[in-house]
Parts: sequence; C-alpha cells; structure tokens
Amino acid sequence: MHAVRRPFVGGNWKMNGDLASAVELADDVCAALGAEGIDRTIDVAVYPPFPYLFTAGRALGHSNVLLGGQDCSAEVGGAFTGQVSAGMLTDVGCRSVVIGHSERRHGLHEGHALLHEKLHLACESGLTVVYCVGETADERRRGEADTVVAHQIRHGFGTLPADRVARVVVAYEPVWAIGTGVNATPEDAQAMHASIRGLLGSLYDSRFAAQARIIYGGSVNAKNARAIFDQPDVDGGLIGGASLKADDFVAICRAAAEAWSGAPGH
Ligand code: PEP
Repeated sequence: MHAVRRPFVGGNWKMNGDLASAVELADDVCAALGAEGIDRTIDVAVYPPFPYLFTAGRALGHSNVLLGGQDCSAEVGGAFTGQVSAGMLTDVGCRSVVIGHSERRHGLHEGHALLHEKLHLACESGLTVVYCVGETADERRRGEADTVVAHQIRHGFGTLPADRVARVVVAYEPVWAIGTGVNATPEDAQAMHASIRGLLGSLYDSRFAAQARIIYGGSVNAKNARAIFDQPDVDGGLIGGASLKADDFVAICRAAAEAWSGAPGH
C-alpha cells in the first residue's frame, strides 16, 4: 500500500439481511471503527440494500463511515420503474456508489455504454464511485485478463476529463474470486493493479495515476487481507461476504490501516 493514497475499504452487503440487522451492523461497525479511530485514518464505506439506506445512514450518525448505494441509474429521473438515480442516493445521505459490479455486468448483462453513463451521472452528483472491473475464469485461462480489464476501464471512463473522475476508486474484482473463497494471490492482484495504474497514466497522466485508488475485491477475509493490502498498488478492498459480520469487517479495515501505517504484519 502506498503512503500517498488513503486506503478505501467498502462493505458490499448485497441483498442480505433485514432492516433490524442492517441497523445493528451499521451500529456495530461504526462503534468499533470509531473506538479505534480507524475511520479517521482510512476511508470506510458500507453499501446496504436500497430500502435500508436511510435508516442505516441514521445509525451511522456522525461517524466518518460513508453510506453508499450498490448501484444507480443511468438516467436522471422520470419513467424508469424500479430504478434509483444518483441524485436520490445523495438525497438520502449517500456519498458513494458501486457501479459495474460483476453481479450486474454478468448477472444483469449491463454493458459498457450503460455503465459509462452511470459513472458519468454519479460523478456529476458528487458521489465517490467504486467502479468494478474484472475478468472471468475463462478469460484469465485464455490469457485475456489484462485486455478485458483495460477494455472495461477505457469504456467506463470514456472521454470524461480528469477533474470529473478524480474521485473514482477502481475495484479490481476477478469474477472467479467473488464469493468463491478463492482469492487472487497478492502477487496476481499486484500485477493487475500495476497494469491498471499504468493504463490510467496513459488515459490521463502520471499524477492522476499516482493518486488513483485501486482496491481489490474477491474473497477477502480477516486472515488474507493484510498480505493483499501490503502490495504497493493495492489501496484497500471491496468486501462482500466478510462485510456482513462486524468483527470480520472491522478486522479487514484494521489491516488496511496497519498496512498503510507500515505496522508490522501478522
Ligand atoms: C463483492 O461482491 O464485491 C465481493 C468481493 O464479494 P466477496 O468478498 O464475498 O468475494
């Protein structure tokens, strides 16, 4: 983890839990992070299901933990049944949004043009976008991982100027590692992160690339987090399953804070 970039750890709760458990999880996470001061050292965000956003946001209260949506619409408003706009997210207190998660790219067939428009509108609304990219197992086997990820990044950022996308956090999430218990090795994650940073340098400039946060997602847990976060181009993580247990999520956030401060690993 590089000292110049403040770590970012996000908890993607997906379609899990109920209102009571969302409030309890938000309460527990912000109390534990606050007690250790971790949320003042690194950026932490949680992404509850849409119906629980407002109440979970209240539970976060004045803590530094950011509230975020798991997706937003590529439209500003109007006759779009079931969709939620970036503006609506900010209206209920969100400061971040996940875009392009593989469960939407692959599960719901969201394409490049749609995701670019979502990223564009979310940035316009002032949200910190976590833009997910990653190859499937077949693509990696065929040696196409770099090309696929580069393609996703080129299309997602499009021709948006650097000042509009300066706060975008890229999440490298190999599809084969999400929810499988098989994480990328720290070395494989580092190699892809370095190549993403190189691409951002060529799309924008070296300063932009040096400041861009690139986080890893895919079966991160309290045990493997530190080795992954110790890689120089890994700036934190997007956490699915392990974000549903406050103790595990807080341990992962602690690992990011320690990796950043250079504290000895375990
Ligand atoms: C995710 O869904 O973004 C994710 C990384 O999930 P998990 O941590 O469960 O692999």
